[in-house]
Amino acid sequence: MPEMPSSPYEGGPGKGISLPDYFKPTEYLSNNNFFFPGTEKVGADEMRVSFVGSCPWPPRRDQAGTSILVELGNGDNFIFDLGNGSVKNILAMGVPAAMINDIFISHLHVDHYADLPYMLPFTASAARWHPLRVYGPSGRTEELGTQAMVENMKKMMRWHLEEFDTLPIGDGYEVDVTEFDFREENGICYQRNGVTVRHWPRSHGKDGASAYRLDWEETGLSFVWTGDGRPDELTAKYAAGADVFVSEVQSDLGFIASLKYGYPQELYNYIIDTHHTPHYALGYLFSEVNPRIGMATHLEYEHATIGEVVAGVRAHWDGLFAFGAPDVQVVNVTPDAVWLREAVLPGLGTVAQPSPAQLVAMVSEGGEVPEFIDVPPVRIPREDQQDQYFRDIEIDPGEYMPPDVARDLITRLPEGLRIPLQALVDQANSD
Ligand SMILES: [Zn+2]
Ligand SMILES: [Zn+2]
Repeated sequence: MPEMPSSPYEGGPGKGISLPDYFKPTEYLSNNNFFFPGTEKVGADEMRVSFVGSCPWPPRRDQAGTSILVELGNGDNFIFDLGNGSVKNILAMGVPAAMINDIFISHLHVDHYADLPYMLPFTASAARWHPLRVYGPSGRTEELGTQAMVENMKKMMRWHLEEFDTLPIGDGYEVDVTEFDFREENGICYQRNGVTVRHWPRSHGKDGASAYRLDWEETGLSFVWTGDGRPDELTAKYAAGADVFVSEVQSDLGFIASLKYGYPQELYNYIIDTHHTPHYALGYLFSEVNPRIGMATHLEYEHATIGEVVAGVRAHWDGLFAFGAPDVQVVNVTPDAVWLREAVLPGLGTVAQPSPAQLVAMVSEGGEVPEFIDVPPVRIPREDQQDQYFRDIEIDPGEYMPPDVARDLITRLPEGLRIPLQALVDQANSD
């Protein structure tokens, strides 16, 4: 008779096999089953990790391009990758548009940053009048690095950026890029407010792919996002002991991929073997890293393969495991507890009402709230970028506006426009 297996966590009857004692709701949750945006603050010693995008290709209605929102109890927010469609989920999670910032890009495959050109001008026009902060690797040559991508992106967006210069933008188009040497192993690319983010290179077809590890000193909590890449020794080394270890995964099931997506099996296998982490390697990495929770994202989450992925993980790893997919899975972590929930998101994207934090974010990096905020001047009014003829052929509002609702058109913002910020903050606080 084969030896009878036992639970690695001594769970006992009714307690499962892979669920440790610390798998329990943190003390800050308003609901143990769902995360309802706007109803719950991150606790002082809590980290909330939300998978606001989880799929590389093909795009899915229930999975945006890969993106992970990490919110800390000290008020700091981080976004790891910003794939196609992720911004709508970030807004729905209650992050005000003007506060989407500190974006760490793992590498320059577009499924990891497609929403960057989309959000840059729109958040700028939504009163983010200060620069965006983007972090990312260098490439083999200067023109292959993150800085060059941002410059080229702005060239691509020339029409849009100029047109939005009919609106107050301030410094909102500026992108402060922290481009680090992709070859650096465990180098520091961010250090502020007791939070350190380190990076190391990954094997992903081309030089310039990185993994990230965030350490929050005050609580000892940590988070790792591998980005894309083959299972490698550096990841096993530098991710070791992370509280939340998130890896990409690709199911090594070429014949299923050929049936579902029409990939020739050899081609699918080639893509995995040169770029990605197959599901057995996922379990192997978990056993090397030994996180409090091992998670997988960046996969098409579907029933034909998901059970098999779990089986591959379990060949190597019997600890706490979950998928960061489909959108939006939420993980709350404190030194005592780890808990999983799904977010319930409204169809109306923007959850956040103007809050004091948002108003402050509109003007600055935080800190003191000034009494007034001066609206930045319009840089290129439409008179300077549109033929007079096209304004002349606009139909007179008197033709369509009923007289009792008619108002004067605002075709020019008054110079020196000021918003009484302190009054708005006081009003928001009194609610
Ligand atoms: Zn990818
Ligand atoms: Zn990639």
